[in-house]
Amino acid sequence: MTRPVVVWFKRDLRVFDHAPLRRAVENGPILPLYVIEPDYWQQPYASGRQWQFLKDSLLALDHALTRLGQPLWIAQGPIDQVLNQLHSRFDFSQIWSHQETGPDWTFQRDRLVKDWCQSHGVHWQECRQHGVVRGLAGRRKWATQWQALMDEPCIDAPERVIGVGLPDTPAIRCLETSPVAPEPSTRVQPGGLEEGMKLLDSFLTERGRSYRGGMSSPLTAEQVCSRLSAHFSVGSVSLRNAWQASESARISYKAQPTDARFAASLKSFGSRLHWHCHFMQKLESEPRLEWEPVHRGFIGLRDKTPDRAGRLERLTLGQTGWPFVDACLRSLAQTGWLNFRMRAMLVAIASYHLWLDWVDTAPIFARWFTDFEAGIHFSQMQMQAGVTGINANRIYNPIKQSEDQDPDGQFIRRWLPELEAVPAPWIHQPWKLPKSKQRALGCEVGVHYPEPVGDPVQLAREARARLKAWMAERDLKPEAMRVLTTHGSQLRQKRPRYGKKTTSSQLQLEL
Ligand SMILES: Cc1cc2nc3c(=O)[nH]c(=O)nc-3n(C[C@H](O)[C@H](O)[C@H](O)COP(=O)(O)OP(=O)(O)OC[C@H]3O[C@@H](n4cnc5c(N)ncnc54)[C@H](O)[C@@H]3O)c2cc1C
Repeated sequence: MTRPVVVWFKRDLRVFDHAPLRRAVENGPILPLYVIEPDYWQQPYASGRQWQFLKDSLLALDHALTRLGQPLWIAQGPIDQVLNQLHSRFDFSQIWSHQETGPDWTFQRDRLVKDWCQSHGVHWQECRQHGVVRGLAGRRKWATQWQALMDEPCIDAPERVIGVGLPDTPAIRCLETSPVAPEPSTRVQPGGLEEGMKLLDSFLTERGRSYRGGMSSPLTAEQVCSRLSAHFSVGSVSLRNAWQASESARISYKAQPTDARFAASLKSFGSRLHWHCHFMQKLESEPRLEWEPVHRGFIGLRDKTPDRAGRLERLTLGQTGWPFVDACLRSLAQTGWLNFRMRAMLVAIASYHLWLDWVDTAPIFARWFTDFEAGIHFSQMQMQAGVTGINANRIYNPIKQSEDQDPDGQFIRRWLPELEAVPAPWIHQPWKLPKSKQRALGCEVGVHYPEPVGDPVQLAREARARLKAWMAERDLKPEAMRVLTTHGSQLRQKRPRYGKKTTSSQLQLEL
């Protein structure tokens, strides 16, 4: 038999718009491979919900490949051992995969694979799948390159593939044992290509109509947001496919005056697809962002204070005593998803009011997110924690957010059943309800629901003062300029925004 070509599936679990698969098919019979790497699943950001979603996506990929004529091979173990075994059996001389921008663990693993390929005379070819540019010198032309990649036609799936034959163990059996602690009680969204395409379709035909107005409140966001993030994260939906479908829908809605709102919503959606890659580029350019503030002047800002364990625990359990915050935390812990604004609020509360170091909270939030995407995650954690040095710091008032985003307390009651009987005006601050009334309602603060962790206004004031003192003692501007030049969007570099007020959509991009 001709030597097969390995297609190494990583975070690109689909057959449509998959350049490595297409190219491999042109070069010989294929061995489509996914490797479960136990050591990855021991990393602090990996979780059972991510595994669950990945597992669905792998089964769907196996079905798709089987329909094309060659089922997926799933191996388990350290990558070099897996490659050694397969190489001695198949003597392959090529590996095709997509480039990956992940946490440092994946970067080191890829280095190992590169060395392995060199020492075994195997040619490893990597294709781009996102707008991330490897070895980028500066951001000046980045947006143009992103656009060019998104405008290239999507790559059709091969009609049929010739492969190495059936794997020793079918995919479903390889996926029986979880490499990470399972989370049976969570309501994680289902994965897989079909699920992803259904979401894209319903978003572009109906759900996305109110995206712009409905994305901020957790009451509406679940329905009006695309919910595609986890699919982009494992690659079951191609970002380029989503961009092209969204652009074509936007143009047709724009032509109808009655659909102007839908068109505007899809414009916002399109911007976010751009941000997806914009944030991943940061980690690609500076992998240390996983553990260090992008602005080095903020290293050590939040000391490991001795009483932090208690605050960390209240955050982790959703027991801060601020109902809206706890509802968001518990909803995230149960479902694995939360809208952008509420994610930003939670990280700001953790970083300012509770004065917890983002380095400690980043893995906790990452494990909660089914859609964990390292480049977006670590950059957003830093932005919301105020350690980038070039963004306006946003210190949310949890009570105001509660009154604005959940005026009747519907979301709070859904996630905090112990507050079910508390009437609307008090639900945002139940500790203000007279004790006799609390007893009558069967919900006593301090008994059935925790006392608040503090006065949010006072805690915010203290955080602001600490930050101000820190900044006054240092010259932070030169490093801020470096951050801006390395990572700032073209637009931002032209118009630096020191000290100016930001709009909510700028808050998401702003670097
Ligand atoms: C602290 C923090 C951590 C985050 N961690 C992640 C993460 O690990 N993975 C992740 O995919 N998103 C992350 N986000 C960004 C954002 O909250 C999610 O992408 C979004 O809520 C996912 O829901 P959706 O797919 O319905 O998004 P939609 O609103 O429908 O947006 C479509 C897509 O655009 C991208 N996107 C949306 N908002 C942003 C943004 N602000 N920055 C970059 N890309 C964006 C995502 O790929 C998303 O799927 C984080 C935000 C914050 C504040």
